Amino acid sequence: VPALITPDDLGAYEEARRGFNLYADKRPAAVAFPESEKEVVDIVRYAPEAGLRVNVQGTGHNQMALPEELGDTIVVRTDRLRGVHIDPVARVARVRAGDRWGDVVAIAAGYRLAPQSGTSSTVGVVGYTLGGGLPVALGRKYGLAANNVLAIELVTADGELRRVDHQTDPDLFWALRGGGGSFGAVTAIELPLYEIPEVYCGWLAFPLERADDALEGWRRLTETAPPELSLTGRLLAIPPLPEMPEPLRGKAFAIAQVAYVGAEAEGAELIQPVRDLGPTFDTVVPGGPEALSRLHQDPPDPVPTVSSHMLVDALPAEAIPAIVAASGVGPGQPLLSLEFRHAGAALADAPTHGGARSTLEGEYVMFAATLATSPATVAAARAHYRVLRAALAPWDTGRAYLNLVEEKTDVAALFASDATHDRLREIKARYDPGNVFRANHEITPGRVA
Ligand SMILES: Cc1cc2nc3c(=O)[nH]c(=O)nc-3n(C[C@H](O)[C@H](O)[C@H](O)COP(=O)(O)OP(=O)(O)OC[C@H]3O[C@@H](n4cnc5c(N)ncnc54)[C@H](O)[C@@H]3O)c2cc1C
Repeated sequence: VPALITPDDLGAYEEARRGFNLYADKRPAAVAFPESEKEVVDIVRYAPEAGLRVNVQGTGHNQMALPEELGDTIVVRTDRLRGVHIDPVARVARVRAGDRWGDVVAIAAGYRLAPQSGTSSTVGVVGYTLGGGLPVALGRKYGLAANNVLAIELVTADGELRRVDHQTDPDLFWALRGGGGSFGAVTAIELPLYEIPEVYCGWLAFPLERADDALEGWRRLTETAPPELSLTGRLLAIPPLPEMPEPLRGKAFAIAQVAYVGAEAEGAELIQPVRDLGPTFDTVVPGGPEALSRLHQDPPDPVPTVSSHMLVDALPAEAIPAIVAASGVGPGQPLLSLEFRHAGAALADAPTHGGARSTLEGEYVMFAATLATSPATVAAARAHYRVLRAALAPWDTGRAYLNLVEEKTDVAALFASDATHDRLREIKARYDPGNVFRANHEITPGRVA
């Protein structure tokens, strides 16, 4: 078994248990950093013998949903299992468990190819894909990333390293694609890449006082957008930090965030109605596929955050003033950002060979976040999330998307139906009857049919 870092290792333990979200404060029995697939096998075989469970983490981005006390769990960090291999002819990437989206995007862009990456370069490819994978731009055209995965390599609870796909283990392959990290320690994943010669993306940003107009313009555009156009409506408070550019520092904006996969002329024509509203900043420009990973401006370094998420039905015009009134973003307000990502198109059409999370319920994906800089800011944010959720209640689908839930939650509500959750529990009982693997959002073994 590779070295286990335990609470007795003082400084090393504090460092090892820290994830990207600095607000998370989890105390596992031990943390391991395997350097090979063989070492992953060794840990998976060792843990149950020692009466311990296993939680696998790529980056610790989504640690928050785990319990604080993890005294029965070894956290397996995959940081040292790195190495992206791209076959530009077949347009396939093999990505190891520790690779982040930034690694794949950079290499693929050299071939004018792009993966179905999310908004952030620092998110783990495997963790993201096991949860479903909502791409920043290639979702409305090609669906959730998990639906397009070609094969997954993992160590299952019996200690075997396997390569699974549609043919070899259709049930396990289905569960892994959206059911999260409850089914094994994934060591690598094979993904398709897409030929993307050019994109047209950026922000149309308006002063917060114009939020009603700006978000209504964005909302109307979503009603007719083609699958190549992904639009996010955002309200964003730029923190008053010295590293922020002076014209933005400490100010709040309403933003129509544009990601068009195609030529500038077509993209410009599509977004013209919002441009006609006269944004203060217009950063929408043509670029290569790598521009998509800078679009959302997610923090490059670890930060403490708390968030809230909802899958939202179609938004009628009267929803916009309700959203603006309850946003909680602006001077003296508790939230850093509130966004609505337009889903629909291929994200709503169930493909033939989809996984456990094959579509998203609702037309929009709400995500709200706050920097957790003090207990008071966290308390204020959490209180405000309740206000926001109450304002959005008329359009709440009642379901949520696993990857964007960063609190302990009712896991059944993370799937399209209770039947999906029941099937996941039944597959868990077959592949991990002893409940060795603990995901952040846990599927527990159910009754075998
Ligand atoms: C800034 C930011 C932007 C984001 N943008 C998007 C987005 O655009 N689209 C989207 O869909 N999601 C997005 N997410 C959510 C992200 O996909 C989830 O937080 C995801 O769980 C992160 O995976 P990770 O490996 O980085 O995090 P971790 O916290 O390390 O892992 C989360 C969970 O994934 C499982 N897991 C991870 N690696 C393995 C493995 N090798 N084997 C088995 N299980 C494993 C485990 O259950 C683990 O607890 C974003 C998150 C952040 C913080």
